[in-house]
Amino acid sequence: MMDEQRVEVYFDSLRPDYPEYLNALEKEALRTEVPIIRRATRDVLRYLLKTKKPARVLEVGTAIGYSALFMRHCLPETSKITTIEKVEMRLVEARKNLERYDKTGQIELIEGDAVDVLQQLCEDGKTYDFIFMDAAKGQYIHFLPDVMRLLKVGGILISDNVLQDGDIIESHYAVERRNRTIYKRMREYLYELKHNEHLMTSIVPIGDGATLSVKIKE
Ligand code: SAM
Repeated sequence: MMDEQRVEVYFDSLRPDYPEYLNALEKEALRTEVPIIRRATRDVLRYLLKTKKPARVLEVGTAIGYSALFMRHCLPETSKITTIEKVEMRLVEARKNLERYDKTGQIELIEGDAVDVLQQLCEDGKTYDFIFMDAAKGQYIHFLPDVMRLLKVGGILISDNVLQDGDIIESHYAVERRNRTIYKRMREYLYELKHNEHLMTSIVPIGDGATLSVKIKE
């Protein structure tokens, strides 16, 4: 059996150096216990962004702006990122960090509940080449219909934290009662991603689990 922590330390030693502001934000997120994208998931995101160079990126769940700034770092200056956050405490930090570090003005922060914002974006006829879903896990299944409208054919949808620290493979009864609703909704979400005829999806056990989907038809 591999020692996963040692593997992580080894992988860390191979990772590229990121700009100091990203390292500082990562430390700040750790210190204040704000959940941000894990390093292994970042590797995959970076690979996809560098390969596909999407012109329009949508993120659901900004937190303090770490992943939006990370994606900006991986993208050409011509790409635009729209990111959605609803919690005021997080928004205060996100506004500050984006103002300070998004010197090229590539990131647009939309303040509000993604349920409403996604609907509004659909009504406005917006479309995206790349969508990063990283908000409340129990809501992914509710966001999906609008996300499908917003995603272009050939576009990529990444959903983070789908394994729920391993709960997802357990039987309903083995999951703590307070986590059962999220568990049920995430299972529905994964089933839908794997069976939706408009998508082709891989579930990959990186970080806390992520799905990589591509929209194959309208
Ligand atoms: N993507 C961020 C990063 O890696 O730096 C981390 C995002 S954190 C895991 C999830 C964020 O989604 C939280 O800040 C939470 O407030 C926000 N969120 C959850 N549900 C939301 C909703 N319905 N609308 C907008 N934001 C939401």
